[in-house]
Amino acid sequence: MRLKRNIPISNLTTFKTGGTARYYAEVDTKKELLGAIEFAKRNALPMFVIGGGSDILVSDKGHGGLVIKYSGNRISFSDEGKDSVSVTAEAGADWDKLVEESVKRNLQGIELMSGIPGTVGASPIQNIGAFGQELKDSFLKLSAYDLKVGRFVVLSKEDCKFSYRDSIFKSGKDKGRYVIVEITLVLNKNKKPHVEYQSLLKHLEDKGLKSPTLSEARDAVIELRGHKLEDPKIIGNAGSFFKNPIVSKEKLNELLKDYPDIPNHPHEGKVKLFSGWLIEKTGWKGKKHKKAAVSVKNALVLTNPGEATSKDIKDLAEQITKDVHKKFGVKLEPEVQFIGFD
Ligand code: NAP
Repeated sequence: MRLKRNIPISNLTTFKTGGTARYYAEVDTKKELLGAIEFAKRNALPMFVIGGGSDILVSDKGHGGLVIKYSGNRISFSDEGKDSVSVTAEAGADWDKLVEESVKRNLQGIELMSGIPGTVGASPIQNIGAFGQELKDSFLKLSAYDLKVGRFVVLSKEDCKFSYRDSIFKSGKDKGRYVIVEITLVLNKNKKPHVEYQSLLKHLEDKGLKSPTLSEARDAVIELRGHKLEDPKIIGNAGSFFKNPIVSKEKLNELLKDYPDIPNHPHEGKVKLFSGWLIEKTGWKGKKHKKAAVSVKNALVLTNPGEATSKDIKDLAEQITKDVHKKFGVKLEPEVQFIGFD
């Protein structure tokens, strides 16, 4: 285990903000993870597990305990017969590397989630999704260390209670209970990508691809993401900052009277609105608040153009939430997780 002291969290997050971690440990195996947990217990330190740091906003106060990063990144494929292959990947593997390797083997199931930043270990936390494909659709099980009972456990899809950008790891009483070390997915052999989203269909059509291969769909997704998202290597950001709000059909009908062009999609008996559109209509796109900003490309992306603090970003998010609520009566909820704010 590599244990360091006083590490700037800004080096570990794509927002490039956050105070200092008192201790930071990178662990490569389950055994090393146990060593790190033991160290935290012995010294009565609170623990926080970090992945790619691409979906979190850590307070400027930092973290007074031990921040752990699971860096083991092995990926293995196992043939399950005529139709499927199971793939097991360690928490520290890069999510997009897993997609790339799967597409290379012509395995269908996660190709539309190409280009999502972050690690495999973070993928179940908010049940990542893009273009109508979600992690839960191909998820079989995961291994995690259960801090409550003090041993490694295996959790099934049902145990994880996945829902729209959510799971037991993100909200509810078991938040913070598990350290995910490995996930297993089941992917399909000989299947084409299933594309439903208009934005992606149109992009594929423009390229003359009516029935794309997995690798053509992957390339198209990566291109589209490049147009609509900010590159964290260039400007600090965490992708979509807010989830899309789910409202009742009655609420939609009320909104349609004033906003007949409001984008909406059916969602499990309710209606999903598009946060990016709502934010744009409040005039925030491209605007600054203190040192934080809203991307000019995409109103759903909040950025740190260089000198923003986590507080600046949090204040901006709160201001946007307030304005969207005032204009539309709809409450935005962050997709990004807030760490260390009281
Ligand atoms: P888009 O295709 O322009 O669509 C705009 C919004 O409408 C999306 O938020 C999407 O919801 C929703 N939508 C579009 N077609 C839909 C359909 N047929 N059924 C249900 N909902 C539909 O979106 P985009 O901005 O280019 O993003 C493309 C995909 O990548 C989206 O799924 C988005 O969530 C995902 N993405 C995720 C992140 C992230 O940081 N987590 C960042 C960028 C993009 P959903 O968001 O629920 O799919």
